[in-house]
Amino acid sequence: MTDIKSMTQEEIVDAVKALGEPAYRGKQIFSWLHRGARTFEEMSNLSKPLRTALAKEYYITVPRVARKQVSQRDGTVKYLWELNDGNCIETVLMSYHHGNTVCISSQVGCRMGCRFCASTVAGKVRDLRASEMLDQVLFTQLDSGREISNIVLMGIGEPLDNRENVLRFLTLVNHPDGLNIGMRHVSLSTCGVVPGIDALAELGLQLTLSVSLHAPDSETRSRIMPVNNAYDVEELFAACHRYFQKTGRRISFEYAMIDGVNDHEWQADLLAKKIHGMPGHVNLIPLNDVVESELKPSRRTALFQQRLESHGVTATVRRSLGGDIDASCGQLRRKELEQRGRRGV
Ligand code: SAH
Repeated sequence: MTDIKSMTQEEIVDAVKALGEPAYRGKQIFSWLHRGARTFEEMSNLSKPLRTALAKEYYITVPRVARKQVSQRDGTVKYLWELNDGNCIETVLMSYHHGNTVCISSQVGCRMGCRFCASTVAGKVRDLRASEMLDQVLFTQLDSGREISNIVLMGIGEPLDNRENVLRFLTLVNHPDGLNIGMRHVSLSTCGVVPGIDALAELGLQLTLSVSLHAPDSETRSRIMPVNNAYDVEELFAACHRYFQKTGRRISFEYAMIDGVNDHEWQADLLAKKIHGMPGHVNLIPLNDVVESELKPSRRTALFQQRLESHGVTATVRRSLGGDIDASCGQLRRKELEQRGRRGV
């Protein structure tokens, strides 16, 4: 069986032609899928024999809401979806004055091992398919009734460790006959997979690249992010500079402030020096306390920000949404896994 929602419109058109149908049938099917059809049966403008033929060869991914939490403070909604194979993933919906942003997962779990992150504690189970990333946007929109204008690939998983499926997802979500979300409204966050950054630079997409830096020196970064042993700070910044040269696009650096680890003044100075020569923006993130970790939130964020700005680097402190609903980085999925563990599932 083939996952039809991961197919591009052209691929679906070719597939229906092979079944002896005209091209426009393929476009109809694409539209049905991207409006959230759950079965071929409901595609009422297709002939009965075509629907039966499709159901024999193809399946449609349909996530089920396993849990949903709505923040009483700011309306942030967190979904825990159960996928066709029983695995669970998280999606967060945030509303800002400029529209609704959905934060989606790219893998079931993660194998990057960042010390401060709850998503990676249990490792990676599998990559998500393009359809399963699309479904997070589509079904969040359908369930919430809020039109999604922006997508951030900042949920569970490392998007550049699942590059092919992520790029396919971007093609799908960008399609005018589908959700039609422009690349300028997409952000992709990576822990620093250098070959992936170079591959993105080659494609020259209009999306915003976020790099989870968290330390400007390799000694500190290797302590908190194992990926630094594969691609260290020097290599990472070289790739960021190449990315800027190629695309002309500003990179956003994520920097979670960790007490006594990465919040020293000399690190602000070094960070500013490394960014010099490209229009980088630093996002200072208050560290979310993860129970499994001994790392604690910094109390020197304001000072660090001033120091960066004194060097002419723009830095903002990220507003935290959904603090009352575990809306960050794998916390809801962790809870579900623990409960299943206790139930022996
Ligand atoms: N793998 C990608 C995207 C997922 S993580 C990446 O690393 O960028 C999304 C962001 O949340 C990353 O910047 C990550 O470093 C950050 N993050 C993870 N755990 C965190 C925590 N406990 N507090 C603050 N930010 C955290």
